Amino acid sequence: KTFEECGFAPQIMAAIKKQGYEKPTSIQCQALPVVLSGRDIIGIAKTGSGKTAAFVLPMIVHIMDQPELQKEEGPIGVICAPTRELAHQIYLEAKKFAKAYGIRVSAVYGGMSKLEQFKELKAGCEIVVATPGRLIDMLKMKALTMLRATYLVLDEADRMFDLGFEPQVRSIVGQIRPDRQTLLFSATMPRKVEKLAREILSDPVRVTV
Ligand code: AMP
Repeated sequence: KTFEECGFAPQIMAAIKKQGYEKPTSIQCQALPVVLSGRDIIGIAKTGSGKTAAFVLPMIVHIMDQPELQKEEGPIGVICAPTRELAHQIYLEAKKFAKAYGIRVSAVYGGMSKLEQFKELKAGCEIVVATPGRLIDMLKMKALTMLRATYLVLDEADRMFDLGFEPQVRSIVGQIRPDRQTLLFSATMPRKVEKLAREILSDPVRVTV
């Protein structure tokens, strides 16, 4: 598959070319058609595989395809990642593609002022990239609602569990409507992650690189 064969709009194609991405990586080849078709996915892939673009590009398409959601509040796409560093990298990648569409991306993680993050979320965003603990804090402070969220990504799920974020991850998932599209990426699939996947994904396609 090429990026063209995925049927991306010209603006997204232009942004892909601008990044210097000539052809999709293996995880992108496998995941993009599945995710663009609206199905849930389990992606077994590590950092460096190009997994970020595999979930960010369809997220942009998903947001642009939901005009009826524009009048609601809160993020449409929610991405949870285990660490600040990873959340920040995803934030940068998402911004590259979101910019051309006026889609707002917010990053929410520890080490930044809660008040600043609260204000930013209150101003509104379509995509939020977050570590689980800080996202829970922001939900408790009512900085955002999940009413509009229909596209959820759990990135490096195994690492989030290793860091003890299982309760926070479950709480976040529980606050997002069940008719969402859910994507779970993990380098490994320990039993606890398999169990979560069985519980929160519907009829997922599994891809491995
Ligand atoms: P990731 O695994 O998502 O952290 O991506 C690893 C690196 O590969 C990042 O620097 C991306 O910008 C880059 N990348 C992602 N997709 C492609 C692609 N199709 N062609 C070339 N580089 C890519």
